Amino acid sequence: MQKKAIITSALPYSNGEIHLGHVASTYLPADVTTRFLKQNGVEAYYICASDDFGTPILIQSEKEGKRPEEYVAYWNKRDYDDFTALNIAFDFFYKTSSQENIEFVQYVFKKLQEAGLIYESEIVQFYCNNDKKFLPDRYVIGSCPYCKAEEQYSDLCEKCGRVPEEIDNPHCSLCGQTPVKEKTNHYFFKLKNLSEQLSEYLDNAQYLQKDVKKYVQNWIKSGLIDWDITRDISWGVPIPGSSEQVFYGWFDNHLAYISSSIKFLNDKGINGKEFWNSADIYHFIGKDIVYHHFLFLPAMRIGIGKEYKLPDYIPTRGHLTLQAKKISKSRNWYIGLKEFLNHYPADYLRFYLIVINPYSQDDINFDWDDFETKINSELIDNLGNFVNRALGFTTKSFDGKIPNSDELDQLDIDAQDKIKNFSKDVGTLMEQNHLDRALKKILEFSAYFNKYFQHKEPWKKQKGTNTCVFLSVNAVKSLSIALYPFIPESAQKIWSQLGLSGDVSEQSWKSISDMTINSGYHLGTSSPLFAKVKSSDIQVHKEKLGKQN
Ligand SMILES: [Zn+2]
Ligand SMILES: [Zn+2]
Repeated sequence: MQKKAIITSALPYSNGEIHLGHVASTYLPADVTTRFLKQNGVEAYYICASDDFGTPILIQSEKEGKRPEEYVAYWNKRDYDDFTALNIAFDFFYKTSSQENIEFVQYVFKKLQEAGLIYESEIVQFYCNNDKKFLPDRYVIGSCPYCKAEEQYSDLCEKCGRVPEEIDNPHCSLCGQTPVKEKTNHYFFKLKNLSEQLSEYLDNAQYLQKDVKKYVQNWIKSGLIDWDITRDISWGVPIPGSSEQVFYGWFDNHLAYISSSIKFLNDKGINGKEFWNSADIYHFIGKDIVYHHFLFLPAMRIGIGKEYKLPDYIPTRGHLTLQAKKISKSRNWYIGLKEFLNHYPADYLRFYLIVINPYSQDDINFDWDDFETKINSELIDNLGNFVNRALGFTTKSFDGKIPNSDELDQLDIDAQDKIKNFSKDVGTLMEQNHLDRALKKILEFSAYFNKYFQHKEPWKKQKGTNTCVFLSVNAVKSLSIALYPFIPESAQKIWSQLGLSGDVSEQSWKSISDMTINSGYHLGTSSPLFAKVKSSDIQVHKEKLGKQN
C-alpha cells in the first residue's frame, strides 16, 4: 500500500439513468475501497467524470431537439445526484467534454504522432445525401447478417450480440433513406506496434487479476489490430486541423481519468502529475470494457513515453443480472438507482450488492427474495440484533455506564482475541480486493459475539456479567469502524449510539482492535438501527418489474 492513491471507476455515459447494474460492478466497489484506504491513512482521491461524447449521445440529443452540450449537462448532474444518494463519495466528478480534457486529448494525440504511432488511411463510410453527413456507428440501422434481426445498429446487433462487418439493408437512422458509400480519411493508432510492451506490462503488473491477464495475453498472441480513432461527426474532441472530424470516444474518455485528476489536484495546490506518478492507480471496471482498459489505455500511456504511470490495479467484476435475466434498458428490464432508493435506504443496497459480489468476472444476480433474506437475516437479525442487544442491555441494566471488568474466563479471553485480530483479519481481505469476503468476516464477528452474549447470560447478573458488557460494547465499537466503508450511514449511527464524539470516518482502521471504551464511560441513546424488509413490499416490486417488461 502506497501512501497515495487515485481511484477511478468506469465513466458513466451521459445518455440515461444509472441502474443497479452500473453500481454493482464499479462505483460501489471503488467507493468502499476508497473509504478503506482513507481509514488507513492513505491520501486517496476518488475521481470520476461523465463520458459526454460519441454518436449515441448526438443522435439522442438531436431526437430531443437539444444541443448535445445541454443534453449531457443534464445527465452529468442527474448521475452525480443519483450516485450521491447512494453515498458514492467522489472527491471530484468532472466530464470528458471539459476544456482540460479536450486539450489533454489533443496533446496526447500530438505526442503519439511524434512517436510515429499514428497514420492516416482512406476508408469507405456510409454517407446520407439527404442529411448531408457521414453515418458512423449507430447512424446506420439495418438487419443483422448473422441472425437476421431487423432494426439493429450497424456497430452492434443487440439480438445476438455480434458486431457485423457490414449490415444488410442499411438505412439512415435519421431520415430512413438508403445511404451511399463515400471515401474519408481516418487516423489509426498503431496498437499492434506496442504488443510486446503491453505483454511486458501485463507480466509485471502483479496486482492485476490473473485470469483477466491470461486472456488478454491470448488476444495479444493472436494479433492486435490498429484502431480507427476518427469519427466523421460534430460531437467529440476535435481532431487538430480538421473542422469536420472528432476523435472516437474510446480515444478520449479514459484520458479524463488523468485530466480530471490533474485538474482536481492542481486546484488543491498539489502537483497533479507528481502525485499521479507516486500514487497507486486503481481503475475499477466491469468486464465488458476489459479490452479498452487492459490494452488500449496502457498502450496510449506507453505510447507517450509513460509520462503518466500505468494502472496498478484494474479491479474487474462481472455483470449483474436481474431476477436471473440480462439487464436491458431497451427491453425495460432494469431497476433505476433513483427508483430503488425511493423504497430502501442506501445501506441496504450497498450491503446486498457487496455481499453477493466476489472479486471475479463471474456474473452475479439481483434477486428480490434473496435481497429480503439477506437484509432481514444477515444485516438485521445478526448484526443489528447484536448491536441493539449489547447497547440496550447496558442502558437498561447499568444506566448506560460501562462497569468495572471482572476476571476473564476462557470465553472472555477468546472474545478479547477476536477483537484484537479483527482489524487484521478484515483488513487483509480488503487489501486483496475481496470486499465480499471482508464483509462476511464482519458478519462472522457479530454472529460470534451474539453467541458469546448468549452464553454469558449477563441478564442473570452473575459473576462475569461486567466483563461481558465491557467486551460486547467494545466489539460494537469495532464493528462501527469496520462497517464504515460498506454501510457508512449505519456505521455513523452506531458510533453516535455509543455516544462517541466526532465522526466514525475519522477513525483509523487500526483502531478497530483498540479497546478504548473503558469502565465508567457513558453510552449515548440506543434504538433499533434497521427496519425489516416486508415480504408484501417485495411482492409488489416483483410484480411491477414483470409489468414494465
Ligand atoms: Zn444478430
Ligand atoms: Zn439521412
